[in-house]
Amino acid sequence: MTGAIDCHVHVQPWTQLRPGARAAFEKGRAGFAELERLVSDPASFAAYLDGEGIAAAALINYPSPVMGFDASVNDFVAGYRDRRPERFLAFGGVHPPSTARLDAEMDRLLDRLRLDGVKIHPPHQGFAANAYLDSLPDLRTVYARCEAAGVPVMIHTGTSIFPGARSRLGEPMAVDDVAVDFPGLKILLAHGGRPLWSEAAFFLMRRHRNCWLDLSGVPPKRIPDYFPRLAEVEDRVLFGTDWPSPGVPGIGENLRAFLSLPLPEPTKRKIVRENALRLFPRLAGKVA
Ligand SMILES: [Zn+2]
Repeated sequence: MTGAIDCHVHVQPWTQLRPGARAAFEKGRAGFAELERLVSDPASFAAYLDGEGIAAAALINYPSPVMGFDASVNDFVAGYRDRRPERFLAFGGVHPPSTARLDAEMDRLLDRLRLDGVKIHPPHQGFAANAYLDSLPDLRTVYARCEAAGVPVMIHTGTSIFPGARSRLGEPMAVDDVAVDFPGLKILLAHGGRPLWSEAAFFLMRRHRNCWLDLSGVPPKRIPDYFPRLAEVEDRVLFGTDWPSPGVPGIGENLRAFLSLPLPEPTKRKIVRENALRLFPRLAGKVA
């Protein structure tokens, strides 16, 4: 098989990270400063990914008062992607409560920066995925614009250990409303609700053809426990690592662990590569 695609790594402008969030990364990973230097250059990070068996990676960013990231993460990730467009997918985001002209910002993300995806992180952004139904009507614009542009939206589901994160908002069932109200929107359920709500996430996968499962953040050897019926939805499941988040040993290490699971080989090929090429057709024919 040719190289795998990691649908969820964090290459971010780390200088914006709040001290408490930085401490969580540093505690979870020796040599974090060294890693920051490595990923600061797209060419050296691409070379690093070669060694890990990864052909392309989605770089996940989003503005978040909890983490310290602002709207400039979008410019950062688009610029980074543009240095190696065949290796990187740029995910950015928007924080509607602190965005004065949301439509203009969506124009910028979708038309000017041409982001490959948008990330919504309820526990780090302080609103539920379905908050457009009551407290945050502007959130509807984000989903509607991405649906119209054919740009996938990744929604964090599951808990978060960073200081100030509100894990309650990671409950996947809020995404049920999004999937119903935006049937043409491709929704990635990041982390499959782990560790508390994998059954809810799997229900959404079976119920909604527009939901995709991003396995990042689930230790590969635990995947069969969390998702015993994974093969039933194998056409919409994506391999991802969440590297360099705390608890993720390494990209290549996770890939090897995933490939050693007792799943049929065609299922593994779909999950580590083929499904991602369908979801991001821009990469098809370009990626190694
Ligand atoms: Zn993540």
